[in-house]
Amino acid sequence: MPSIFTKIVNGEIPSYKIDEDENYFAFLDINPLAKGHTLVIPKKEIDYIFDMDDAMHAGLWNFAKKISHAIEKAVPCKRIGIAVIGLEVPHVHIHLIPINKVSDMNFAMPKLQLSKEEFEETAEKIKKQLS
Ligand code: AMP
Repeated sequence: MPSIFTKIVNGEIPSYKIDEDENYFAFLDINPLAKGHTLVIPKKEIDYIFDMDDAMHAGLWNFAKKISHAIEKAVPCKRIGIAVIGLEVPHVHIHLIPINKVSDMNFAMPKLQLSKEEFEETAEKIKKQLS
């Protein structure tokens, strides 16, 4: 059965899309730790990041770098925190999270409750910064 992220890539489930290319896709995390919390995934469904072949693995990080620069410009923060967890969704994803202090990366914290309008506005701001 396809993962929930494959369904997002295929447009079967809606997402607040930020960007995509032939191999990778970026969209807002629906349960964000911060405004602008974004997930970057390979379109190819692979469970574990270190099972990716070298080229696809490197390409994923390059794509994440581009998206991170756009998030930094769109969302005031000290830097973009990075996490790879994958315990919930078995489809490789990098969390990109605007942070100001180390505790902003605490996944045990309550997640933000954002409205559809807030998600859309955040996605638009980030997309505008992509070049
Ligand atoms: P983990 O697998 O532990 O790295 O966590 C998976 C992440 O995917 C969580 O932060 C979820 O909020 C996020 N997530 C799950 N389903 C969706 C979805 N349909 N759209 C956006 N983010 C999602």
